[in-house]
Amino acid sequence: MGLKILLGVLAILAVFIVITLIRAAFYKPEKIEEHKIEKYDVDEMKVAEHLSDVIKFKTISRAKDEGVDWGEFEKLRNYLDEKYPLIAKNTTKEIVDKGSLLYIWKGKNPDLEPMGMLAHQDVVPVAEGTEGDWEHDAFSGFIDDEFVWGRGALDMKNHLVCVMEAVESLMAQGFQPERDVYLCFGHNEESCSEEYCGAKKIADLLKERGIHLDSVLDEGSALITLDVKGIIDTKLAAVGVAEKGYVDMKITLHDKGGHTSAAPVHSGMAKLANTVQDLESHQFKSHWLPFMTELFDTIGRQAKYPGRVVMCNLPILRPLLKFVLTRISAAASVLRTVTSVSMCEGSPAANVLPQRPNITCNFRTLPGDTIDDVEKHIRKVVRYKDIDIERMNPKEASEFSPTSSRAFQAIRKVENGLHPDHVVVAPYLVMGGTDSYFYGEVCDNILRFAPFDVSLALFLNTHATNERVPIKALGESVIFFREYIKVVSDK
Ligand SMILES: [Zn+2]
Repeated sequence: MGLKILLGVLAILAVFIVITLIRAAFYKPEKIEEHKIEKYDVDEMKVAEHLSDVIKFKTISRAKDEGVDWGEFEKLRNYLDEKYPLIAKNTTKEIVDKGSLLYIWKGKNPDLEPMGMLAHQDVVPVAEGTEGDWEHDAFSGFIDDEFVWGRGALDMKNHLVCVMEAVESLMAQGFQPERDVYLCFGHNEESCSEEYCGAKKIADLLKERGIHLDSVLDEGSALITLDVKGIIDTKLAAVGVAEKGYVDMKITLHDKGGHTSAAPVHSGMAKLANTVQDLESHQFKSHWLPFMTELFDTIGRQAKYPGRVVMCNLPILRPLLKFVLTRISAAASVLRTVTSVSMCEGSPAANVLPQRPNITCNFRTLPGDTIDDVEKHIRKVVRYKDIDIERMNPKEASEFSPTSSRAFQAIRKVENGLHPDHVVVAPYLVMGGTDSYFYGEVCDNILRFAPFDVSLALFLNTHATNERVPIKALGESVIFFREYIKVVSDK
């Protein structure tokens, strides 16, 4: 009897393996509509020089208007007018909220919804004390054989300059889009709040004018190479179709306080430590959102045969994959709301027992978890019930944009035209925030993708020392933006 069962199990397993091997052979990328890339010679060095000049303007982001060096933004604006004369001539330019820019390039057909191309002019400051660590000064815009160096080279003056180059070159060829093209360049993405946010002001202005955008393209991940020997060798264009929410929760506990000379064994700080432990040992529930299936499925189909043998069984593998991913901190953040206790405060003096010890915990919410849910979660998992919770900088997670939109498919078509059979365009979730978040009320197709071909190590250099962009990636990105604008601006 036992042998019969064993043979039965082996037979089922054998059938499963055979079916899998056959399925893997047919598990291929979906057909993408062909797109012919127009041959166009980009003068890469000229683009690099423009970017270098733009990096020299110290358009540093500040949390409030008072600290902003508006003169630097003005210099940048004037520079753009000077270097991109056709854009200056053929668009209307508005300065919104002191420093943000809105250029409108009229299309042939006023009945079509305009398309938006987003970028931000501001950059993060260089961390104090690290200025000397840069190989080339952060605002020098130094150019060597391979790179343009400096703050903003990847985030995201590169993007802004390449969009300008693309539009200027299309204008020089006499191209006129079918729909209006809006270039929307915020001035405080890196430090924006509800009150100070150029992107929000532009979006509000569009709403006021009754304008609904067909799509917007903003910063997001880059074009990253996936190369695992024998398993996969492709470029990954991960397009952000949603972004996580954000809230800082200040959690204050109540304790007796008093003089430290008569301190109990455990002071209020011990309660605080328990609170941190409660929060960290009760992580949010993870969720496999639909974009994850599409992401893994699209990548899996592009894998080499051994990779496809595994990935064609994605529905069966999902629980295992979810289990593994939740155990890797960086990967877990795509599956759940992230809890990060980052600040704490005891008493104001060393000889005073804390009466109102508090911690501040930063939460990055997964779409589906609201900020109310975060507060409920805190009240549920923290063992002390007499706590005050204060919400700071709350921002709900965004909606998901569909991958079926023309704009998403345009990225797919253009990337495939640029790298035939060697690129995967898949949806993903943006962990941080972008200006495009504020366009939710005037647009349903919000995409976050920067077409710059950079290594993962370089990409992670964003906001860090020695930020730099390969010159080659600039030229390719100008071509990408030209083609993307042509496809999306069309009927
Ligand atoms: Zn940015």
